[in-house]
Amino acid sequence: KLSKSTTIASENIQVMVRCRPPSDMEEQSHEQDCWLLIPEQGTVKLDESNGTTFEYDRVFKGTDNTEIYESGIQKLVRSTMEGYNGTVFAYGQTASGKTYTMTRTAEEPGVIPKAVADVFTYIEEEAIDREFLLQVSYMEIYNEKINDLLNTGRHSTGLSIRTTTHGQDYVENLSTMAVTTPEEVMNYIELGEGRRHTSETDFNKNSSRSHTIFQLIIESKPRMSSLASVRTSRLNLIDLAGSEKVATNTERRQEGSFINKSLLTLGKVITQLNEGAKHIPYRDSKLTRILSASLSGNDRVAVICTINPAWKSKDESTNTLRFAQGVK
Ligand code: ADP
Ligand code: MG
Repeated sequence: KLSKSTTIASENIQVMVRCRPPSDMEEQSHEQDCWLLIPEQGTVKLDESNGTTFEYDRVFKGTDNTEIYESGIQKLVRSTMEGYNGTVFAYGQTASGKTYTMTRTAEEPGVIPKAVADVFTYIEEEAIDREFLLQVSYMEIYNEKINDLLNTGRHSTGLSIRTTTHGQDYVENLSTMAVTTPEEVMNYIELGEGRRHTSETDFNKNSSRSHTIFQLIIESKPRMSSLASVRTSRLNLIDLAGSEKVATNTERRQEGSFINKSLLTLGKVITQLNEGAKHIPYRDSKLTRILSASLSGNDRVAVICTINPAWKSKDESTNTLRFAQGVK
């Protein structure tokens, strides 16, 4: 039986920072990158004298998603196959590289496709003595409303969070699809991505204003014993809404205040799990409520904070670096 304590050991929370390369347009401005990353030290600082030095578990520059995946995410994914819950967050300003890091591009698969492939490899090669049942769900939180991205029926938007008699929060009516191959999983993700766009009746709505949560529910039991109990764990892979402050119009401000609230709560929850606080404020946002079952005790958490190299984004990048420092 896994420990029930709320504290997450510091080594089970990893914080990484990734700075993407300059875009073509940024390249044309011929300015120096704003940030100096030193991978050997895990540090980031302003590329000028006497700036603050931020320190993390790992820092990355460049285009290589494999490097990020193999440097710690893979271990987290493996742990979920062994019964621990695992959650990966991509946090950062819009256009800093969250989706690049998390999702598929044909030439450079991100954390999600790599994790999915890994899970199936693990089942085939490492866990031959166990039998697995895998299910996926895919949802977005937009303006504190939960939308099911895999359900085309009536119950797909504005889903409620309920609490079981054991005090466990869950999303009511959320679709969970049984899957048996990586291709099937990726097809569901593609379907969900499509639904994010086609379901947008409001043309102002931009994907960068919502959190997307991909969940893999992993159940397993030993093949040889019919009496053994089923082991269940979850892998949550999350592309968070852009962390930037926007205040252009009422609607944007409304979205922004929901996003700020949930990102702030997320930061508090992780910090307090790290510190072993008695009361963790899961209930202050839908995002943290949905994840509450996966964020305690022996669970594993990785936060990948993304920044861009431009001087004009210095302040937003600094906010991201501060968030990243705060959660460790
Ligand atoms: P976000 O999801 O944070 O809004 P994106 O992932 O969409 O940002 O990235 C914005 C742009 O930058 C995209 O065109 C993407 O291909 C590019 N990009 C992001 N990160 C990298 C990277 N590490 N290497 C190369 N290009 C990147
Ligand atoms: Mg994105």
